[in-house]
Amino acid sequence: MAMAETTLAVAAPVLILLGPPGAGKGTQARMIEEKFGMVQLSTGDLLRAAVKQGTDAGNRAKAVMEAGGLVSDDIVIAILRDRLADRDTEQGVILDGFPRTTRQAEALDLLLAEREQKIDAAISLEVDDGEMVTRISGRFTCAGCGEGYHDSFKAPKTAGICDSCGGTDMIRRADDTAETVSSRLAAYHAQTAPLAQYYADRGALHRVPAMGAIADVAERLDAIVTATRG
Ligand code: AMP
Repeated sequence: MAMAETTLAVAAPVLILLGPPGAGKGTQARMIEEKFGMVQLSTGDLLRAAVKQGTDAGNRAKAVMEAGGLVSDDIVIAILRDRLADRDTEQGVILDGFPRTTRQAEALDLLLAEREQKIDAAISLEVDDGEMVTRISGRFTCAGCGEGYHDSFKAPKTAGICDSCGGTDMIRRADDTAETVSSRLAAYHAQTAPLAQYYADRGALHRVPAMGAIADVAERLDAIVTATRG
């Protein structure tokens, strides 16, 4: 029934995770996805998939991503618009890595308005810059199931074997090197950090200390997500 579908879409929460590379956006987004049945939308993941598939957008984005810069707003907005059109997003979404510029934030407001939705919460993961290079250079992921690990903070129980799926193919991102991380942090401070004010002005910003243990940060986020779901 059309009415019920509209109601469902309006009620579906929309969360944004803000924070520099290495702040834990992906890890926390996956935990929220599992716990609350919402869908994680990572523009980084979508772009990496486009690069791998060799799509037009992927080919245009590849060099910028390798250098640690920001891919053009037009490419990223188009990729996000396509993904938002998938039905599963009606369960609510956690945006991880988008928006990263004011233009993207404005485009997102318009896309959501078309769906009679708005941002319920923009959660800024607050971390020390100095730590980010260490965090990022040690991280790796299971290629089979996407579970994230870290050399120092979250090693698999048995070295080389994924705790979740038993897979043995562990991958490190090509842009997780010390040099590229510096460029990514610079892009974050120049173009993305000002978005905290954008969402503060709209009464949607939550600042969350995110230097501690993954589980402690998750607990702080749980409280915010639960509150936005009413
Ligand atoms: P991430 O996985 O979020 O760290 O993103 C990896 C890379 O993809 C970034 O360093 C950018 O080059 C690109 N990227 C991801 N999301 C965006 C975005 N919203 N705007 C521009 N570039 C992006």
